[in-house]
Amino acid sequence: MKIAVLPGDGIGPEVIAQAIKVLNALAKDGLKIEIEQAPIGGAAYDASGDPLPDATLKLARAADAVLMGAVGGIRYDTLPREVRPEQGLLRIRKELGVFANLRPAILYPELVNASTLKAEFVSGLDILIIRELTGDVYFGKPRGRRTTNGGEKEGFDTMMYSESEIARIAHIGFKVAMKRDKKLCSVDKANVLDTSMLWREVVSGIGKEYPQVALSHMLVDSAAMQLVRRPKQFDVILTGNLFGDILSDEASMLTGSIGMLPSASLDEKNKGLYEPIHGSAPDIAGKNLANPLATILSVAMMLRYTLGKESIAKRVEDAVKNVLQQGFRTGDIAASGEQIIGTNEMGDAVVNAL
Ligand code: NAD
Repeated sequence: MKIAVLPGDGIGPEVIAQAIKVLNALAKDGLKIEIEQAPIGGAAYDASGDPLPDATLKLARAADAVLMGAVGGIRYDTLPREVRPEQGLLRIRKELGVFANLRPAILYPELVNASTLKAEFVSGLDILIIRELTGDVYFGKPRGRRTTNGGEKEGFDTMMYSESEIARIAHIGFKVAMKRDKKLCSVDKANVLDTSMLWREVVSGIGKEYPQVALSHMLVDSAAMQLVRRPKQFDVILTGNLFGDILSDEASMLTGSIGMLPSASLDEKNKGLYEPIHGSAPDIAGKNLANPLATILSVAMMLRYTLGKESIAKRVEDAVKNVLQQGFRTGDIAASGEQIIGTNEMGDAVVNAL
């Protein structure tokens, strides 16, 4: 199985190095994989002037799965939008057609004190956020900047979803819910937005095909509030690109740190792009401070969803649980008084636990 690895920028290469250690350990145990790396984001812009070079896209297309770190950095923030690192990320998602982004937010019992919420509200938390990834206001056209007749500058974007885009992500949502607690909460802003009104109609219609699943609808502002009020009411949350982006970062804090949340982005045939949900964290990059567990857990998702290796996926997840049980903590998940280890040491600890 060919895995394209795209480390990216900031802490991306640091956390990816730990994931590669894990993959190499599994390869020694007989997992047949070939890993090839290519630049994306700022690193690719520096090398070739393009945040998603053709060679990187070609490698990603030819691979069975893609593992990515993170992109972005302060020094790229003043570049024109088309060549900014984040455009490389948006383009690869679109080019690979990975429209279904699965973001599990699970609180490990050992990290209950790392959460900013009281233990009684978060212990046992296990939510899956399904975010549509290739549509919505991030891709809608027209978009841009203009100057009005009065000389004032305006910026504008288009929020848009087609019926078929909503239907295909809704089917994923219901199918995933069937394998869990059969509870699906669709999140939108149907009291204000036409896009959301259509979203709600289509999701409700598809829900009739899955009568075993209890479907509910919630407005995004209320969902943001309920996620910190009573997060355990949720099992599967289905939502669009923009709302999912925001709600999944919020949910990450329930689990202790954004450095704990992996993600899988799947196409129609379960080919996937796997990445931690965090960004390139310029504030801690290059200092051996980043938590690599989200990236390592993304490897577990890759083994499960694209490579079809459920038992090995479980081994990786168990190794992560094991290091947490042993008390290993990077700074972001350490409660006060707990000893802190670095990115590399956390990677080594997972390999030892494997
Ligand atoms: P961020 O996720 O990079 O960082 C937010 C905060 O979380 C920071 O304080 C950071 O130190 C911390 N953090 C993130 N990952 C961590 C980890 N693994 N371990 C410990 N702490 C961690 O978000 P940001 O600061 O808003 O964005 C920084 C850059 O990343 C920007 O250029 C942004 O565009 C980009 N970004 C990229 C992605 C991606 O590649 N998928 C996602 C979000 C942001």
